[in-house]
Amino acid sequence: AKSEGKATYQFFEPKLDEEARLRRQTELDLRRALHEGGFELHFQPLYSLVEDRLKGFEALVRWNHPERGLVNPVDFIPLAEETGLIIPLGEWILREACWQASQWPEELSVAINISPKQFASGNLAQTILQALSHSGLAPGRLELEITESIFIANVEKTLSTLHGLRDLGVRIALDDFGTGYSSLSYLRSFPFDKVKIDRSFVQDLTTEGNAHAVIRAITTLADALGMETLAEGVEDAGQLEVLRREGCRYIQGFLYSHPLNVSEVGILIDSNGMQ
Ligand code: C2E
Ligand code: CA
Ligand code: CA
Ligand code: CA
Repeated sequence: AKSEGKATYQFFEPKLDEEARLRRQTELDLRRALHEGGFELHFQPLYSLVEDRLKGFEALVRWNHPERGLVNPVDFIPLAEETGLIIPLGEWILREACWQASQWPEELSVAINISPKQFASGNLAQTILQALSHSGLAPGRLELEITESIFIANVEKTLSTLHGLRDLGVRIALDDFGTGYSSLSYLRSFPFDKVKIDRSFVQDLTTEGNAHAVIRAITTLADALGMETLAEGVEDAGQLEVLRREGCRYIQGFLYSHPLNVSEVGILIDSNGMQ
C-alpha cells in the first residue's frame, strides 16, 4: 500500500473506516443475537424421487435482526467464520436442528451444514454426540453437509475427522458438488453417503444441451461408488423430468418447496399423513 502513495491511501481511508466500523458493529450484533436467541432455523424439504415421498429437511439458519428482519446466511456466515463466532453458532444450530428433528416422524432425517472452521475445530464430534443425546435423535437420521473446501487444510487430518464422525453413526454428504477444483478426486478419497449436485448444473438443464450429460456422468459415477445423489435448486418441471430420467435419487428446490419455518414444517408433515 505504501508504494501506491499517500494521496491514494488517504482517499480511500474514510471508506475503509466505514467498512471496518460496520463489520465491528455487525460482529457485536451477532454476538448479542447469540446470547438473546436471535437466530432461527428454517427447513427445506428433501424429496425422494425413488420412494415418491418426503425424505427429510435441510436446516438453514436465519438471523432474526431487530431492524433488518430475517437476514440470509450469505450476509452473516462469512463474518461468523472470520470472527470464530461460527463455533458457538454452529453448536446452537446442531442442538436446535437435532431437537426439532426429534419431534418429527422417524422416517424423516435432518441435514445440517457444517462450515470449514467448525469442521476443523476439534470438538465437532463431541458437540454432535451431545446434540444427539440431549434430543434422543437416532444418529442415522442426522446427515452432515460438508464442502470440499475442508480438504484444502490437510487431507490426512480431514479424512481422519470424517472417519471419526462416520463412526458416530451419522451420514456424510458432499455439498455443492462440481463447483470446486478437484471434486472428482475427493469423491475417491472418502465414501460419502450422498453427493449434492450443485444448483448451477441443474439451472443449466433448461438452456444448455450437454447439461444432461453432466448430470448423467455424476449419477453414474455416484452409483458406481455406492453414493446417493441429490439435485439442488430444482425450480421447474423440465429440470425434474431430466433428473428423474438420469437416475437422480433426491431433489430439493423451489419446485417442491421453499425453506419453511417450524410451524410450516409441522403443517407439511401433517398433510403428508406422517404424524
Ligand atoms: P446451501 O447449503 O447450498 O443451501 C441451499 C441454498 O439454496 C439455501 O439458501 C436455499 O434457500 C437455496 N435454495 C433452495 N432451493 C432453491 C431453488 O430452487 N432455487 C434457488 N435459487 N435457491 C434455492 P440459504 O438458506 O440462503 O443458504 C445459503 C448458504 O448459506 C447455504 O448454501 C449454506 O452454504 C449456508 N448456510 C445456510 N445455513 C447454514 C448453517 O446452518 N450453517 C452453515 N455453516 N452454513 C449455512
Ligand atoms: Ca447445504
Ligand atoms: Ca448446497
Ligand atoms: Ca450452494
